[in-house]
Amino acid sequence: MPELPEVEVIRRGIASHVEGRRIAGVTIRNPNLRWPVPLDLGHTLFGLKIGRVTRRGKYLLFDFGEGTLILHLGMSGSLRLLPASSTASAKESPQKHDHVDLIFENGTTLRLRDPRRFGAMLWATADVMHHELLAQLGPEPLTEAFSGKLLYEKTRGRHASIKEVLMNSRVVVGVGNIYANEALFRAGIKPVTPAGRLGISRCKKLAQAIKETLSLAIEAGGSSLRDFVDSSGNPGYFQQQYWVYGRTGQPCRKCGTNIVQIRQGQRSSFYCPRCQR
Ligand SMILES: [Zn+2]
Repeated sequence: MPELPEVEVIRRGIASHVEGRRIAGVTIRNPNLRWPVPLDLGHTLFGLKIGRVTRRGKYLLFDFGEGTLILHLGMSGSLRLLPASSTASAKESPQKHDHVDLIFENGTTLRLRDPRRFGAMLWATADVMHHELLAQLGPEPLTEAFSGKLLYEKTRGRHASIKEVLMNSRVVVGVGNIYANEALFRAGIKPVTPAGRLGISRCKKLAQAIKETLSLAIEAGGSSLRDFVDSSGNPGYFQQQYWVYGRTGQPCRKCGTNIVQIRQGQRSSFYCPRCQR
């Protein structure tokens, strides 16, 4: 599942190629994503120019002035930019899961592939931040709006584990399973710790760890940007060295103790029983 760093890298990868471009057409092969893609999208977008491409949580926002195209990659979505020359070749003819193409005046195509169809492509005309998908979202983790102090305030009285609270997008957006595990390791906090038990100093450490973990992942993904615009497509998942994620039974990179895996709220948690308390 693309997490915040992947979505941010995708945003950076496509922004310079689509900002300022006008839409010449939209091809919808299958509108049945998590919510139906509006069938009149081609009519709506025809001739409109994309301004900035921004991100809120894991939503990509294409600002068209009179409205915003909201794009979410769901569990398995990916985007590819195909130059005009390549869409004519058989190699780039749309495959089974290539559900939507945005075609630009210069012939470039932005193609959405989503095998599991949990993604979304929606049109919003009012202030997009008030859209029902975005209005309830918590602060962006990489902005000053998210801090240890805020995390401390939001966790008071909470009996749920800190890991589950971190993954709640009303507390902070974009901290999925991988990065929640990694940030908790960096902060030295055991994932099952009741959120309300963390003191202010540990909350500050954790907020900092979340920022570092996400920033490093974005940096790691940045190096794969080149691949994004050629025929090999989107950057997918970054090759990263995780501290704990997916490392069950392997020695902790800090202390050598074997990493433990447990189930928490349907998700796997990984931690070092010595480094995380
Ligand atoms: Zn350790």
